[in-house]
Amino acid sequence: MIGAGPYGLSVAAHLRAAGVPVRIFGEVMDSWRHAMATGMFLKSTPDATDLSAPEPGGRLADFRKVRGESELTELTPIPCDVFVRYGQWFQKRYVGDVEPAKVAGVDRDPGAPGFVVGLDDGRQLTAAAVVVATGLNGLAYLPKELLRLTPEGPAAGALVSHTSHHSDLSQYAGQRIAVIGGGQSALESSALLHEAGAHVEVLVRERRVLWGSVPRLDRPWPQRLAQPASPLGTGWTLAAICEAPGGVRLLPAAARLLLFRRALGPSGGWWLRDRVEGVVPVRTSCRVIRAEASGSTARLEITRPGGSERLVVDHVLAATGYRLDIDALAFLAPALRRGIVCVPRSKAPQLSSTFETTVPGLYITGSLAAPMFGPMMRFVAGTEYAAARIARDASRWVVAP
Ligand SMILES: Cc1cc2nc3c(=O)[nH]c(=O)nc-3n(C[C@H](O)[C@H](O)[C@H](O)COP(=O)(O)OP(=O)(O)OC[C@H]3O[C@@H](n4cnc5c(N)ncnc54)[C@H](O)[C@@H]3O)c2cc1C
Repeated sequence: MIGAGPYGLSVAAHLRAAGVPVRIFGEVMDSWRHAMATGMFLKSTPDATDLSAPEPGGRLADFRKVRGESELTELTPIPCDVFVRYGQWFQKRYVGDVEPAKVAGVDRDPGAPGFVVGLDDGRQLTAAAVVVATGLNGLAYLPKELLRLTPEGPAAGALVSHTSHHSDLSQYAGQRIAVIGGGQSALESSALLHEAGAHVEVLVRERRVLWGSVPRLDRPWPQRLAQPASPLGTGWTLAAICEAPGGVRLLPAAARLLLFRRALGPSGGWWLRDRVEGVVPVRTSCRVIRAEASGSTARLEITRPGGSERLVVDHVLAATGYRLDIDALAFLAPALRRGIVCVPRSKAPQLSSTFETTVPGLYITGSLAAPMFGPMMRFVAGTEYAAARIARDASRWVVAP
């Protein structure tokens, strides 16, 4: 098992419950501790934030109850640190040992069916099956216009960085920062930067910023019928996607990719609106067409409907999302990667109904599975569908002693 985030822990919990010998590599809830800024909240609601346990009692609500903490409702955004503590509790309760080593290589075992797994400390082991649950690690996307600011690659110290490089935005206090993007990451980062004393401006491609609406706990039935609730929001399309990820997999590839790209556009959580609107300057309908370093500053050329403008800042924070690209999983040996057939017109893996790639015994879950099973796999809510299926199928590779 490569990865100990929500997906890795959920699959591992099911494997351990089934008595399958499994070793789990990765840092528990790593992305939530190190790739998200302090002070962030989850956009998803408590009901959509449960890991998948092999028996009742492992939901976020159960964790809160056991710890004597108050119940969360749709009207209480979940702080990231609550979710991290929930993941750690889940790991102790359902998973047990997790090895914090990084997997540096996975290749076919030349001497037997299965795989050779190399760790970054030089150790090697063999495995009958491998499950990849590395989330968005290594998949951060930086538009080519920004690459000139960072010939050495984006990093916290460079003129441009990606939101996933930061766990503390207060280092930018007093500096001029351009945040590129119009989704939750951009908007929440801009609020945190502003609150830390930075001079922030958000540059958004879309004509306007979209905000989620304040949830109503007591929706009358006609409204519930017209706009059914789902872990991803309200509406029939989202409800269908969440109800039947297996059905999504059977759609033609072009339809699945369309769903993947369009079903959930960029928007900000309802609870964030007051911290951004009228507080942080936001330029909409604008596109950065050139970015150049000038001494210790970044000069941006921006086009807007009325013409072009320039902006000089001390740092550019790219909240420009992630690209699903199997080639970015550098730990997979090139020959192994070549054996993984991708969804047409994408670099995401084609997967069986049990998340197995076209390399027998190699499974991929989480965001990389979204072009097959739909947008729910981009979120914690997808663990319920994925975990038991993968665990059941992967256990068939284990030869009884
Ligand atoms: C800013 C932000 C906010 C988000 N908010 C929400 C939200 O509110 N609700 C929601 O449902 N989803 C949210 N998401 C999506 C979120 O990433 C996923 O829902 C969830 O974390 C996916 O879990 P995962 O297990 O696939 O990956 P991750 O949580 O990213 O876990 C990856 C694991 O892989 C390990 N790993 C990586 N590389 C290696 C390696 N080479 N060897 C060993 N281990 C490795 C890491 O240590 C880690 O344990 C958000 C994402 C971002 C970026």
